[in-house]
This record gives sequence, C-alpha cells and structure tokens, in this order.
Amino acid sequence: MLTRSHALLALASAALAVALPGASASARTANTAALQVALRGTGHYSGTVDGVRGPGTRAATAAFQRSRGLGADGVAGARTRRALGGRGRPRYGSRPLGVGARGWDVAALQFKLAIHGFPSGPMDGGLGARTARATARFQRWAGLPADGVAGRGTMRALRRPVPRSPARLLRPVAAPTGDRFGPRTNRFHAGLDFPAASGTPVTAAGRGTVVFAGFSASGWGNLIIIRHRFGLRSFYAHLSSLGVRSGQYVGAGARIGRVGSTGFSTGPHLHFELLLRGANIDPASAL
Ligand SMILES: [Zn+2]
Repeated sequence: MLTRSHALLALASAALAVALPGASASARTANTAALQVALRGTGHYSGTVDGVRGPGTRAATAAFQRSRGLGADGVAGARTRRALGGRGRPRYGSRPLGVGARGWDVAALQFKLAIHGFPSGPMDGGLGARTARATARFQRWAGLPADGVAGRGTMRALRRPVPRSPARLLRPVAAPTGDRFGPRTNRFHAGLDFPAASGTPVTAAGRGTVVFAGFSASGWGNLIIIRHRFGLRSFYAHLSSLGVRSGQYVGAGARIGRVGSTGFSTGPHLHFELLLRGANIDPASAL
C-alpha cells in the first residue's frame, strides 16, 4: 500500500476506482424511496427518504394499509400501490419523465439523481424546474443530450454505479464528522459536515488552484472552492474567515480559512463537498 502522503491525489488503482457499493448502498432502492415519498404525501411517514425498507417504512406502510382497510402486512404490494392512487404509479421506466410529470416514477427519478450526485431539492414526486435542471446536468455529465427529459437513455445511465473519488484527499479539519453525505428528511445532504469550534483551521484537502474565495449569496456564507486534478473540486462552506484568494495555488494541507457559521448554518461547522466533473460524490470515498 502507498503511504498516505504518496497516495494524496494520486490516481487510485483500477481496482480501487471501481465502485464498491457496500451493503447499505445495495439495500437502498429507488422504489422504496418512491414509497417513502408517497407515504409522506399521505401523512403516514415523516422519516428520511433514504430508500431503505426498515422498520419505520414498514410501520408507515402498515398504518396506511390500516387506514384504507387493507391487510396491514407492511409490504407495499399491488393493492397498496393502487390505494396510493397517483402517488403509487406509474412504474419507474414506463414513460419518459419531463416537466409536469407526477407520481411514483418521478420520486424514484429524484432519488436516483440525488444519489448520483445531482440532488434537485425536495424529493416529492413532482417534476418541476429543479428536477428538470438536475436531469439536464446529469445528462451532460453522462454525455447524453441535455434536454432535461429522463427517457430510456437517461434511465440506463442512472443504473451505472454511483461515482466515487478517483483520488485520496486529506481530512480538511481536525474534527470529528457530523452529518454524512446522503438523504436528510426529504432532501439530500450533498456534503460531509465537521462540527468544530469557530476559528478552527481549515486546510486544503489536496493541492490545487483556488477558483472561488468569497461570500456566496446562495447560503454557503464564506466559501472556498479548489480545483484539483482528475476533474475534482473541493468545496469549504460557512467559513468565519478566508485565508486565500481566487487564482492562488495551494498545497495539500495548506491552511485556507477558519471554521465558522456564515450563511445558512445552525452552528459552527465545516460543510465539505467534493465534486467530480460536476457530480457531488461522497467525500468519505476520498478520505
Ligand atoms: Zn452540511
């Protein structure tokens, strides 16, 4: 094995670059996410839209079944899907999905887009402008015509493994991890949080060029974006202070700013994101 410093931003071996979905990844399905969205719509589920058919989802399904006079086995079969009405259909893959579409398949699409790095706001089973934009961004990423309508080619591309970091990076702050990359309520947390005291030094996860250092009006507060090799960009949000300027080259581990709570933030923490050619990927796949 390479040492950590040698492995920094080095291209991982082909074996490492192949996505290795763990048990948790394979246990989550877009159909379960669509069921969770539908049960949120009927008021029977208030948990996270995570695509995992756990006890909370089974209990919500059973509660819905009881409310409709169905056998409460907690399994969403054909009768339960029918009872969900427009929320329970159509089946994902049965039609192309464009602006104005609603239903089970739209919720499944929103979940698939999110886990592939293109979250589109709340997963609610309604295809609006945000979901269409996320679809177009995914299509461009996948080398497809970016028309924002999810047809067969887009759905095929969404069956590919979720992208992971092609390189190793350094932990950007000496702090424990908080909220991880993944679904949060009916939205998607596209980064990894590190709760830390305000003023804690933040360091570059890898060497690269600062492409943004300033205040972001879109809720990120003081934000730094660094462009690395291999199409990677790292993203450091809510900083209390900035120690670099746009255009500056930084080495791996160089101090770039300090933890804060600027922008839309509930307390001091570093919100760290990693993008691969524009797709949000799980930063934990690089650390
Ligand atoms: Zn965050």
